[in-house]
Amino acid sequence: MQSFEPARTQAIGESIGAQARPGDVVLLIGDLGAGKTCLTQGILWGLGSKDHVRSPTFVLIMEHAARIPLYHADLYRLEQGSDLNGVGLEEYLQGDGLCVVEWADRAPGVFPNDRLEVSIEQDENQRDGRTLTLTAFGVRYVDLLQSLIAGIDRLSNAVDKARDI
Ligand code: ADP
Ligand code: MG
Repeated sequence: MQSFEPARTQAIGESIGAQARPGDVVLLIGDLGAGKTCLTQGILWGLGSKDHVRSPTFVLIMEHAARIPLYHADLYRLEQGSDLNGVGLEEYLQGDGLCVVEWADRAPGVFPNDRLEVSIEQDENQRDGRTLTLTAFGVRYVDLLQSLIAGIDRLSNAVDKARDI
């Protein structure tokens, strides 16, 4: 799906947050500045919190209280190939919050097979343009993705209508 401004990426995140269930895992992949933290902000708002997310600097994982807890991990600073011992990621992944992991591609193999992956790419010709590719693994996430697409179609129609006015 396409995003043409940060608010749109956040709105996509809000739909994810609104539909998240305890234990869900969402992996975010994309270069620096792609919009992973922006999407995570929307997810947190969609979970009913008014908090602001920051890319965790000294800790790899930040917890936010919300309708269900958000566990926001950012593996950017993870040394390639180093193990995640002591970070507690596994416990978070088995916990009953929503796990959102930026730079998930830096820790292949630690995530459950069933998950939603979102890769974000910056469009070449449009500074604020982003292409988000959502891939569902497992029945739960196929269902989630279907309802996300339905919700986001409604969102697009509303945006298009607003533009016509
Ligand atoms: P990441 O976490 O992937 O490194 P951030 O979310 O921190 O990226 O930053 C994305 C930057 O790109 C922000 O400065 C944001 O304002 C800008 N931006 C411009 N257009 C978009 C868009 N369509 N979606 C998300 N971010 C966008
Ligand atoms: Mg980030």
